Amino acid sequence: MKFDFIIIGQGIAGTCFAFELLKHNKTFIIVDNPIKENSSSRVALGIYNPLVLKWFTKAWNVENQLEYFYDFYARINTFFNDSFVSDTGVYKLLKTAYDQNTWLSKSFSSKRFQYMSNNLLSIDNPSLRNNNFYGFVKSAGRVNVKKLLDSFRNYCLKKRILIEEKFDYNKLIISPNSVSFKNIVADKIIFCQGYQGFGNPYFDNLNFKPTKGEILNIYSKDLRLKHIIHSRFLFTPIGNDHYAIGATYNWENINIKPSSEAKKKLVSQLDSILKIPYTITNQIAGIRPSTADRKPLIGRHEQYKQLYILNGLGTRGILLAPYLSKCLIEYIYKDVLIDHEININRCH
Ligand SMILES: Cc1cc2nc3c(=O)[nH]c(=O)nc-3n(C[C@H](O)[C@H](O)[C@H](O)COP(=O)(O)OP(=O)(O)OC[C@H]3O[C@@H](n4cnc5c(N)ncnc54)[C@H](O)[C@@H]3O)c2cc1C
Repeated sequence: MKFDFIIIGQGIAGTCFAFELLKHNKTFIIVDNPIKENSSSRVALGIYNPLVLKWFTKAWNVENQLEYFYDFYARINTFFNDSFVSDTGVYKLLKTAYDQNTWLSKSFSSKRFQYMSNNLLSIDNPSLRNNNFYGFVKSAGRVNVKKLLDSFRNYCLKKRILIEEKFDYNKLIISPNSVSFKNIVADKIIFCQGYQGFGNPYFDNLNFKPTKGEILNIYSKDLRLKHIIHSRFLFTPIGNDHYAIGATYNWENINIKPSSEAKKKLVSQLDSILKIPYTITNQIAGIRPSTADRKPLIGRHEQYKQLYILNGLGTRGILLAPYLSKCLIEYIYKDVLIDHEININRCH
């Protein structure tokens, strides 16, 4: 059988791209490694939010991303008759009077007012060290990424459109108007490989700058916290009295081994948030597919027009993946130009 697309990788990028192809009645087959719990998308906390929380500034192009994000998840919820998004907002801890004043003055700016509360809030929870004061970030929350990836994977496995194996570049045959891999033939192929795409021989001249990130999972029966809190790191309820905190940043030691340095930082932060005991249940590390200019990388191969890439999602893969999939599909099938800032051409 001939497909419209072969998709390499079923992280959040490959999953969103495949789901967009379904919307356009295009066919695909995915080749993905057997599940690795420390792939970036499976490690991710799953938080989306429109602000750069350190500076209270708006993230790049976030209006367009958010608009498409809600449309995308409404469709995916209907498709699986399930819910993957908790749009609960994020509580930003404002410890000092300076932070509180900065928040309030920025919240009245026309650029940001729809995303920032213009008052300060309290959280009434005796287990927290700080009940006062918080700024509330709107249009923010959490995607249950693992659940989404598992649901989509099971759907594809049932339809026999997902092969669990490592894609071998040497087995790709590029013909004038198609590509083939083993016995699979398709019009086009797209690489959605996250950090493992850094060694891709077809897209080897891009500005990747990977960062390692680590999170801790904890259990605390008495905490009973429903809010996502940001105070240096994100602290997130993930269900059944379990919580996740993270993520750290490390640009030097790029590996997936949990480190004692990261644990120390995360525990110190936990102790500054919580008054009550907790049990650490897991520590996990992943690698973000970041880039030197902090912009994603999408586009078509200069020479082989059947080859595409969707990568460089960095720290904001959850919000970016649906929007970038839409941009790329509109480029491929409707000739809509890709914004220069995210086009791989900027690296040539
Ligand atoms: C600790 C941590 C926390 C994070 N938290 C957040 C967060 O809260 N919010 C947010 O927006 N972002 C977060 N991120 C970033 C986010 O995880 C990434 O932007 C996103 O997951 C990247 O997705 P991806 O699909 O490009 O890559 P990946 O998730 O790495 O998926 C790539 C897939 O391709 C497969 N693959 C690669 N090469 C091959 C091959 N040759 N053959 C077969 N399969 C192949 C891999 O096995 C994998 O399944 C976090 C990242 C980390 C590390």
